[in-house]
Amino acid sequence: MKYKVDTHSHTIASTHAYSTLQEYITVAKQKGIALFATTDHGPDMTDAPHAWHFINLRIVPRVVDGVAILRGMEANIKDEFGEIDCNDRMKEELDIILAGFHEQVFSPKDRETNTRAMVNAMKNGIVHIITHPGNPKFPIDIEAVAEAACKYNVALEINNSSFLHSRVGSDVNCRAVAQAVKDAGGFVSIGSDSHIAYTLGNFEKSLEILKDIDFPDERVLNHSPATLLNFLESRGMVPIPEFEYLK
Ligand SMILES: [Zn+2]
Ligand SMILES: [Zn+2]
Repeated sequence: MKYKVDTHSHTIASTHAYSTLQEYITVAKQKGIALFATTDHGPDMTDAPHAWHFINLRIVPRVVDGVAILRGMEANIKDEFGEIDCNDRMKEELDIILAGFHEQVFSPKDRETNTRAMVNAMKNGIVHIITHPGNPKFPIDIEAVAEAACKYNVALEINNSSFLHSRVGSDVNCRAVAQAVKDAGGFVSIGSDSHIAYTLGNFEKSLEILKDIDFPDERVLNHSPATLLNFLESRGMVPIPEFEYLK
């Protein structure tokens, strides 16, 4: 398996997801996934875990059975100022912060407003990855978002689940997002957005798009554990000694 890193997964802590962290670790081991991020929904989302879920992630071991685990959140972009539902206390405990639009928290607006909200979320300096920016329900100025992502060193996600279960019509937008990121010289990520452990590390559709447009491997965060860890460190993460073997 070429890509051994998954940056996007949900456990039963979000009740519309169906696997425990241990089940994810088991599947990761079976599939040869070296590193994955557990990224349950930020507390403002319907059926998301309480803030304590994120604060207490520090009790999760860094490495279990040879699988390394990043402590994360998929936060919600709340308004056009780019506010997200991850406060300083939660942020302190997290290694990786994803953020995206979810209708329950931010109802779709016009293209300009959506774009402003997304760009401000990146500008605020907390977010590492914008999830499913290709969602057709939230039209954005793709070029402007890709340029801002490059400027603020934020990755845009080509979300594999968008092609399978949800966010119908993402295909054309995701191709445009990948192309715009390539042109701007930024990073993409290819999260599985798993809501059940079996799909961890499934990126076929996302990889198809990247291959079609000849996207450079080294600009894909999931290319290797070192690529992701170096990116997070470039964004201020203190190096994690237990992960040194991954570099
Ligand atoms: Zn999402
Ligand atoms: Zn998600």
